[in-house]
Amino acid sequence: MGLEEFFSHLRNLGIPVSRNGFEDYLTDESRFRGRARALIRARDKAQVVAAVNAARVNRVRLNVVSGKTSLTGSSVPMGGVILDVRSLDAIDRSDPSRVEPGVITKHYRDHVGRLGLFFPPDPTSEDSCTLGGNVACNASGALSYFYGPTRQYVRGLTVALATGSVISIDRGQVTGVHDRLTIPRHLLTPQPDADLVVPVPRHAGPSWERCKNSAGLYANDPMDLVDLFIGSEGILGVFLEVRTILLPRRNPYVALLIHPPSRDVTVALVHLLDALKEWSVCRDHNAKENVERRLRVFSTGAPQVGPESYDAVVPACMEWMGASVTPLLAAERARPLKDSYGCLYVEQEYRPDLDPLTVIAQWADLVNMVSRFTENRIHTEVALDEKQIRQMRQERKSIPERLNQMIRPGLVKIGLDFAVPKERLGWLMELYDRVLPSRGSYSFGHIGNAHLHVNLVPETEDEEQAYRKIYRSVAREVCAVGGTVSAEHGIGKLKHEALEMMLGPEGMSEIAQVKRIFDPACILNVGNMVVMQCD
Ligand SMILES: Cc1cc2nc3c(=O)[nH]c(=O)nc-3n(C[C@H](O)[C@H](O)[C@H](O)COP(=O)(O)OP(=O)(O)OC[C@H]3O[C@@H](n4cnc5c(N)ncnc54)[C@H](O)[C@@H]3O)c2cc1C
Repeated sequence: MGLEEFFSHLRNLGIPVSRNGFEDYLTDESRFRGRARALIRARDKAQVVAAVNAARVNRVRLNVVSGKTSLTGSSVPMGGVILDVRSLDAIDRSDPSRVEPGVITKHYRDHVGRLGLFFPPDPTSEDSCTLGGNVACNASGALSYFYGPTRQYVRGLTVALATGSVISIDRGQVTGVHDRLTIPRHLLTPQPDADLVVPVPRHAGPSWERCKNSAGLYANDPMDLVDLFIGSEGILGVFLEVRTILLPRRNPYVALLIHPPSRDVTVALVHLLDALKEWSVCRDHNAKENVERRLRVFSTGAPQVGPESYDAVVPACMEWMGASVTPLLAAERARPLKDSYGCLYVEQEYRPDLDPLTVIAQWADLVNMVSRFTENRIHTEVALDEKQIRQMRQERKSIPERLNQMIRPGLVKIGLDFAVPKERLGWLMELYDRVLPSRGSYSFGHIGNAHLHVNLVPETEDEEQAYRKIYRSVAREVCAVGGTVSAEHGIGKLKHEALEMMLGPEGMSEIAQVKRIFDPACILNVGNMVVMQCD
């Protein structure tokens, strides 16, 4: 039992193992560096299952890697062997909802788009990340504000477990009763001697309805087994197939860039737009009253118009580019941003039979109302055709890459991926304005979800240490108001301390308990999400 037996077992099965030349697998986009003894590039599902089984028998650790765009070290090995699953990239010809996990997200979205379908999850990294990585991290993107995260678009999964079995489950097949999930043995191939009984964690982070969240294992009541795997950062099994939920083709849309002059106006505008979105989904009395309340904020004494005047205004995304990132954008396309607090990017869909200008007219009225209130014209740009929209969206998309290019060798950027319940958006932005350094701090992200990425890019080691302290103290405050320490990128190998702040030691040990059931030999993605004692 050991590494050499593992290698010889794989050789006998014709699975190639590289024992050197895998330097670029020792890090991911977080720049955290690990170590490994070898690399396996699995060519198909059978090779993945064989590698997981051989690793279990020989007690060899495997770290699964796919697009390698993780920002938390989750795809970085900490010893053992790297299992690259990117070559599993087939899409079923007759049923495009059946897809292998190595497919690049953008390729998949384009593929189903050509078939007249729509897969909403659109992480900024979609050009290089994969569906398997997205499911493992419950990735989200700009459109998740309206459409929700990856979780909402996964119907079923086939997973190679480190118990020696493969499971193929769809939603509704295994659901939890009394805080536990019982997986009948007949769903596992080969069948074990007994059913698998999994306790559902009690100390989980906030629910998506309350606050955007991707930290720790998911828990709900009732609980679906498919949901337990989504966002599990590969610690419970290796995905072999993802069965997605596809929507009909997305309606056409226009894009707008709005430049509010201050923090208060930004927050009030985001709350108003969010209230309009909620009202479009649920035209009830409470939703209408909420819009009226948000409209009153901008009251200037002039006769107040009602929510009906803006009933076509429904943002499909609300993205933020703080004034700190303006210089980065200016290189791409010079824009008069200097008098604004930042820049709000929104997309507005419209029915194909409607003239987009009628929708834009309502946006213009709304922005004029805000301008009257601030006594300053609010600069706004509109993109109507595909080329203009792509250019505008690209500006927002280019920010993380540009920030990564600014990191000095030997240093790491400290990424705040915090979100808070939506009503706390103003609190979060005020906190950031107060505690973040004026130099080296860049703020952007998903403002509609009260989720802002702040990148602290240090110039010296001392600065890096100072930024780590800021990270910890903000994490504590965010947890205290019911927010999350990771709304998007997960925990990986770098954010255990923050996760423990959020879930407490009980929550961490619940995660370890679930992991032990799916991975008794403790071989899969060790170090992700939780540090645990392995026998
Ligand atoms: C510039 C940039 C922008 C980003 N923007 C976003 C964003 O908008 N939204 C967002 O959510 N994230 C974003 N990210 C983070 C990252 O892209 C996501 O977490 C993404 O889901 C990772 O996918 P990947 O294929 O690169 O996975 P990897 O980095 O290879 O792996 C990530 C995790 O998934 C596990 N995994 C991968 N494949 C499998 C599998 N088949 N079975 C089981 N586990 C598996 C790995 O073991 C690891 O734990 C961004 C990253 C960068 C660098």
